[in-house]
Amino acid sequence: CGIFAYLNYNVQRERRYILEVLLNGLRRLEYRGYDSSGVAIDSDLHPAEASRNEAPYASVSPLVFRQEGKIESLVGSVYSEVDAMELNLEKAFSVHAGIAHTRWATHGVPSPRNSHPQSSGTWNEFIVVHNGIITNYEVLKETLIRNGFTFESETDTEVIPKLAKFVFDKAHEAGQTVTFSQVVIEVMRQLEGAYALIFKSPHYPNELIACKRGSTLILGVKELTNISNNGALFQDVKALTTNGQPKELFFSSDLCAIVEHTKNYLAIEDNEVVHIKDGCVSVLKFDYDKEKPASVQRALSV
Ligand code: GLU
Repeated sequence: CGIFAYLNYNVQRERRYILEVLLNGLRRLEYRGYDSSGVAIDSDLHPAEASRNEAPYASVSPLVFRQEGKIESLVGSVYSEVDAMELNLEKAFSVHAGIAHTRWATHGVPSPRNSHPQSSGTWNEFIVVHNGIITNYEVLKETLIRNGFTFESETDTEVIPKLAKFVFDKAHEAGQTVTFSQVVIEVMRQLEGAYALIFKSPHYPNELIACKRGSTLILGVKELTNISNNGALFQDVKALTTNGQPKELFFSSDLCAIVEHTKNYLAIEDNEVVHIKDGCVSVLKFDYDKEKPASVQRALSV
């Protein structure tokens, strides 16, 4: 399948533009999987409004659109749902993080319910797009069910966002604050199989996490100023020290969905966790076998 993400930082982008970048990314990746697809973007719900609701710790719940069939059927359903919700496509965001997926089903028939993003449940506290297979999902699912989770899909993927919520809630109950990357690393330690994943959560607004083991994943960074190392491979991280500058960041399963935006890219390695926060990228690496904290592998200041 194909996974894709787009994050704009310090640059105004309208919702229509954000949606089109995500949908175009999927069009480029459609050759990798085409039985269903989905995208997630931010809603209009203000954090203050959300906090009046029941959801524990919820701030802004992402909007998830999913559809069976080719990408163009997703495109049609996104725009008709947007219309029905009276969502303003001209609304501009100076920071926004969206994720997208085109599926090649391995577990569970093609259907909107089995499409990605898969969710932790109500409020989409954690949502995930996944390329690959989680081989120990049955064991994880049983544990999560024993801990009160209910499952809505037949996918192997659904255990991932639910595990993230489980880890997050446990930390909160213990009065600890956890970073988004700490949550994801804890989840990764429990997953077996091959995967590339992108996580989004209203607990960590405007942040994205991507990680991989086995499957391919590329990070692209588009500098919107002249000080980038345009045209060069994304190797010399110092050349990308343009902190605070407007930029657009992409994750993709394949370079073919990134090259139209930028030539600055980085191939993510196995067991690396890439955390985008406040326009900065940190690449963390950890050891699966030992319970030791993840170390910063490559601190990219972009
Ligand atoms: N195993 C996941 C599923 O069946 C992901 C498949 C894919 O890589 O598209 O939903």
